[in-house]
Amino acid sequence: MLSADFGNLSRDIEMVNRSRADWFHLDIMDGVFVPNISFGLPVVKAIRSLAEKPLDVHLMITGPERYVSDFKKAGADWLTVHYEAVTHLHRVVWQIKNEDMLAGVALNPHTPVSLLEDILPDLDMVLIMSVNPGFGGQKFIQNSLRKISKLKEMVLGCGSDALIEVDGGVDALTAPALVEAGADILVSGNYVFKAASPEAAIEGLKELGDEEEADDEA
Ligand code: ZN
Repeated sequence: MLSADFGNLSRDIEMVNRSRADWFHLDIMDGVFVPNISFGLPVVKAIRSLAEKPLDVHLMITGPERYVSDFKKAGADWLTVHYEAVTHLHRVVWQIKNEDMLAGVALNPHTPVSLLEDILPDLDMVLIMSVNPGFGGQKFIQNSLRKISKLKEMVLGCGSDALIEVDGGVDALTAPALVEAGADILVSGNYVFKAASPEAAIEGLKELGDEEEADDEA
């Protein structure tokens, strides 16, 4: 939603409601963990009041454990914290789950997936950042594909149900390889909202998932 037109937010939320998108992805930036400041709880609440799909809230903030209850109250269904922003990760993950939200952990491009080995069975989702968080208009980092494949092996290996989400530089060019590598959830902002038809752009990305499912069944 960071790429939506905030002067016409209800119009853009309606578009996502109508589209085949599964979730609303909200990027919360604090100007400390990442250079930019995005938006906070009142905007999350406003989106919640109009959104007809789950809210996937990605906290790019330091000390996210201070705000777990607040984001629950604002309407988050999924809450993802950064590995790099938390000291007691296991504790925060269970704080999120005990608030009846689904818990995700995000990794910056330099953070290896192997560091998640011991927490993976507790997670509902892992978010692989395929650009550095908090800077606009960046190029997709190719090494993300290798990370996704490795993470997929780890998830299957430990019998975890964790979904793999990818955030940053997702478009029609990068998406097929991401799905191929094992991504379950694609986050797309600019590519969707700058498209002549955002709904058609979402449809195009969803079709990749449809094809993958057909391949799995065949
Ligand atoms: Zn995000």
